[in-house]
Amino acid sequence: MTEHIGTTCVQGGYRPGDAEPRQVPIYQSTTWKYDTSEHMGRLFDLDEAGYFYTRLQNPTNDYVAAKIAELEGGTAGMLTSSGQAANFFAVFNIAGAGDHVVASSAIYGGSYNLLAHTMRRMGLECTFVSPDCTDEELEAAFRPNTKCVFGETIANPALDVLDIERFAAAAHAHGVPLIVDNTFPTPVMCRPIEWGADIVTHSTTKYMDGHGTAVGGAIVDSGNFDWDAHADKFPGLTTPDETYHGVVYTEKFGQAGAYITKATSQLMRDLGSIQSPQHAFYLNLGLESLHVRMPQHVKNGQAMAEFLAEHPKVRFVKYPGLPGDPWHELAQKYMPNGTCGVVSFGFNGGRAAAEQFMKSLKLAQIATHVADARTCVLHPANATHRQMNDAELEAAGIAPDMVRLSCGIEATEDLIADVEQALATV
Ligand SMILES: *Cc1c(COP(=O)(O)O)cnc(C)c1O
Repeated sequence: MTEHIGTTCVQGGYRPGDAEPRQVPIYQSTTWKYDTSEHMGRLFDLDEAGYFYTRLQNPTNDYVAAKIAELEGGTAGMLTSSGQAANFFAVFNIAGAGDHVVASSAIYGGSYNLLAHTMRRMGLECTFVSPDCTDEELEAAFRPNTKCVFGETIANPALDVLDIERFAAAAHAHGVPLIVDNTFPTPVMCRPIEWGADIVTHSTTKYMDGHGTAVGGAIVDSGNFDWDAHADKFPGLTTPDETYHGVVYTEKFGQAGAYITKATSQLMRDLGSIQSPQHAFYLNLGLESLHVRMPQHVKNGQAMAEFLAEHPKVRFVKYPGLPGDPWHELAQKYMPNGTCGVVSFGFNGGRAAAEQFMKSLKLAQIATHVADARTCVLHPANATHRQMNDAELEAAGIAPDMVRLSCGIEATEDLIADVEQALATV
C-alpha cells in the first residue's frame, strides 16, 4: 500500500505496539542504564543499535526523524538543534578542510554566512552560482576537490526556485551528491529526492513546527548516492573510522544508512547539536497537521500575490506561484500544487512607503520569523539587513523598499483586508 502524505504526517515514524502510548513518548532522560558493561561496549563499537546518551541519540528524536524521512521518501533521518546545524552537518559530514562546495547564491542568509565565512575559516571553500546560471557557468564552478552541491528548493527570502534536476545532473556528473534545503515547500508541496536530490535538509523551525514554538532542524538521506562508487572523494564514509575500532560506514550500514550513521556517531558525538526531545515532541505535533496547513498557506500566499500584483501602489511582487514571475515555470514543474506562503513586494513610494505600510498593519505582525501559522512581516532594510546602505542593499539583491510577507493560515479575506487598509495609508 502506498500511503498518502497526509497519513504519514499524522501516523508516520512512531507506530506503537500493543498497550504502548498512543502519542510519541518524550524520553526526558540524558542517559540509559545497562545490566552489563559488555552490552554497553557493543553499542560503543556500533555493533548493536541502542541509546546511551542523549547528546548522540534519543528515541523521541528518532521517531520524529523517521517521520520526516518517510515524508521526504528517504532511507534515514536525524534531527538537529536548528536548521543551521542541519545544513552545517549535511555538508561537513562529507567535506572538510581542503575541500570545495558549489552552492546556489539564492540561499538563506544564515546558510550563506555559514558557507562563505564560517566554513571557509575551517578550510572549506565555496563557489556560489546563480540559480539561473548557464550550464557552462555551472560546469565551471566545479573543481577536482568539490564534494557536494547545495541549494534551496525555494530560496528564503529571494523566492528563486532551484532547478533540482539540472543541479542534480551536474552534481552526479562530477561524482558528488546534491543537498537541497527544502524548508519553504516542505515535502507536502515538493519532494526533492524524487527529482534527483540525494540529501534533504530542513529548518523545522518554520512550516514543520509551524507554530513558532521550537527551533530545530532535520537531515534526510535518500540512500541513493553510491559513496563506494566515488570512494576516493568520500574517505570518511568508505575507509575505517579509528574512533570506532575501524568501522567502515558504507560496509557496515550500507548505502541506505552510512551517511546518517556517520553524522550521528561522529558529528553529534563531537559537536553535540542535538534537538531536545521536548522540542522533537512539539515538532511532531506540528507535523501532524502539516498537510492541512500547507494548502492554506499556499492559498493565502497565492491570493495575496495576485492582489498585490494588481495594486497601483505596489512596484513589484515576487512569488513563484504568480504567472509572469521569472520562476513560475520551474515552480509549476516542481510544485504543481503550489509553492509556499511567503510573498515579497516593493512600493512605488519607495522605502518611506514600506516603513509607513509596516506601521499600519493590524493583523500581520512584525517578526523576524517566517512560515508561521500567524501572518508575519519583515522589512529587511530595517531589520536583518539594517547595516547596509541603499547601494549595498541593491548589490545584495534586496530592494530598500522590499517587504517579506509570510502569509499564515488565517482567513484569506481578513489578511487581504489588512494589507489593503495598510496600503491605503501609504
Ligand atoms: C530559517 C532557515 C534556516 C536556518 O534555520 P534555523 O532553524 O533558524 O537555524 C535554514 N534554511 C532556511 C531555508 C531557512 O528558512
